[in-house]
Amino acid sequence: MENRWNDSEVAEYKSDLALRVYTSRLLGRDSTLVLHGGGNTSVKIGMTNMLGEEEDILYVKGSGWDLATIEEPGFSPVRMKHLLGLAKRETLSDPEMVNELKTQLTNASAPAPSVEAILHAILPYKFVDHTHADAVVAITNTENGEKRIREIYGDEVVIIPYVMPGFDLAKLCAEKYPAEAGEKTIGMVLMNHGIFSFGDTAKVSYERMISLVGRAEKYLEKNKAWNLSWEKIESPKKQIRADLARLRSDVSKVSGFPMILSHHEDVKSLAFANRGDIGKISQQGPATPDHVIRTKRVPMVGKDVNEYAENYSQYFKKYASSQTILDPAPRVIIDGEIGICTLGRSINEADIVFDIYEHTMEIILRSTALGGYRALPPEDIFDVEYWDLEQAKLKKGGKPPLFSGEIVLITGAASGIGKACVDSFLSRGAAVVGIDIDKNVESNYNKKNYLGIVCDVTNDEEIMNVLEKTVRAFGGLDMLVLNAGVFPKGARIESLSTADWKRVMSVNLDANLSIMREAHPLLKLSPGTGRVVIIGSKNVPAPGPGASAYSASKAALTQLMRVAALEWGSDGIRVNTIHPNAVFDTGIWTEEVLKTRAESYGLSVDAYKTNNILRVEVRSRDVAELAAEMCGPLFAKTTGAQLPVDGGNERVI
Ligand code: ZN
Repeated sequence: MENRWNDSEVAEYKSDLALRVYTSRLLGRDSTLVLHGGGNTSVKIGMTNMLGEEEDILYVKGSGWDLATIEEPGFSPVRMKHLLGLAKRETLSDPEMVNELKTQLTNASAPAPSVEAILHAILPYKFVDHTHADAVVAITNTENGEKRIREIYGDEVVIIPYVMPGFDLAKLCAEKYPAEAGEKTIGMVLMNHGIFSFGDTAKVSYERMISLVGRAEKYLEKNKAWNLSWEKIESPKKQIRADLARLRSDVSKVSGFPMILSHHEDVKSLAFANRGDIGKISQQGPATPDHVIRTKRVPMVGKDVNEYAENYSQYFKKYASSQTILDPAPRVIIDGEIGICTLGRSINEADIVFDIYEHTMEIILRSTALGGYRALPPEDIFDVEYWDLEQAKLKKGGKPPLFSGEIVLITGAASGIGKACVDSFLSRGAAVVGIDIDKNVESNYNKKNYLGIVCDVTNDEEIMNVLEKTVRAFGGLDMLVLNAGVFPKGARIESLSTADWKRVMSVNLDANLSIMREAHPLLKLSPGTGRVVIIGSKNVPAPGPGASAYSASKAALTQLMRVAALEWGSDGIRVNTIHPNAVFDTGIWTEEVLKTRAESYGLSVDAYKTNNILRVEVRSRDVAELAAEMCGPLFAKTTGAQLPVDGGNERVI
């Protein structure tokens, strides 16, 4: 356990609150102590209020802040007097407690105080640090956990048996701490939950945390439960997109909304998934209640989601009447053939679940080495999952974005209409895979929910690779935007070479057949419905001289779209086309080219750009927004349609 206190760093942090920020960040930097919003800290500061009265204020971590990056406004100032008064009450529901905490803030715009605020208030020290340290949790989650904790710390810590976080836990600590704390007490261990340290200075409290957790780590080492070995397992299958997409589809059906599935076959994940005792050790519950919010109850082992949901139905029944949001879908899936999959409404959520489960695997293995991992019984886990405070948070979260949990593949995504499509789908919450022959497609975006792949769409093998990568990254494919195409130099039929004709056909037509054929099994498994949008051209209804190859290719593509709409309707897949015209904000239309073209019609550049019935300029973004909306509910009952985006064209109308 590394002590990160640094005297030269700390010189900048002068006030008590600033020091509280400093050591909170030190804790937050170590993922074995604090993970994704877990843990909280506080400092008690005497202040004079507006009426000239002295009062003690507890600055406790506010919700929505992470210790690793917290700043002074991240601490909610709550009146100590009221907190101590609340701790004396016989009962208080958790929503009532949350309300009370808010009414006692001295800053109306501060974040909601941590639900563990009362716990911080009752500990009679200026600084209080609380973490869900892996090493401590690994030891408390064993058969003789309490005995082991006593063996490690003697009477330096007060031990609190497991109670769900909230008022009841605060109440129990308020009774047990004063009764059991002695001169040597420097911490408090909460069984199956975590550890508190405290002190009169930020440094003492922080260093006590490091030292207490360090002793837990040493204990594990002494008991040969610290160093873990991971058996090297060969990745069993090369092509797993069908398995993964099926799994995501099944889970999303059970949850009632589309989910992103993130796949992991690193050494640890494969070794863990292939353990002979996986069916037992993975089914003992999460390491700390804080994890339940992300990972839900226990992982699913194998691929049968319905069986998993059925196994847990008895627990859901208990809550069925209380207006809770029932979602029996797993968030972690363990399978020997596949490795580990984690799920969430976005790739961010799914990745957080994986981070937590990576720690959980180590905790389980260390507890197992100590003689057996034993976490909370399912009843307790479900109490946390259906905790009214968590439910309130879910409701407050509001409506997720339109394409939350969904995946789109866009071809020709490096620039122009394709890149605008990437923007439109990202802004609606989709995970986007952009492909292009231009390598800028890889670096255009640096986002977790974007994957750019260089691909020549005329190469079937490359297309299959793209689909495999898409599903490994996000779990499936729901939408396809076929935009890649070439617009060759003008040539009249008598001078058009067969080679040039074939080149246009292979990119604008043949490639799209390959992509559609290979994507069909995935689109069919879309938890919503599969959707395809094809970027056609005004040249389909209104061809121009000198563009026979282009016009013929787009016309044939439109016919392919119409047949796909007929054939795939029974799979619930909608296929529609957009016919744009004169979209000039793309790479091929440089200032120079525009000027020459405008002049050849005797028009100014502006007049040329708006040479349509509505006298409007058609931009890439206009086309992209329509493409995205065509995948949304407005077009839920439309397939086989062709829509112009051209400002109105007499020949088309
Ligand atoms: Zn806690």
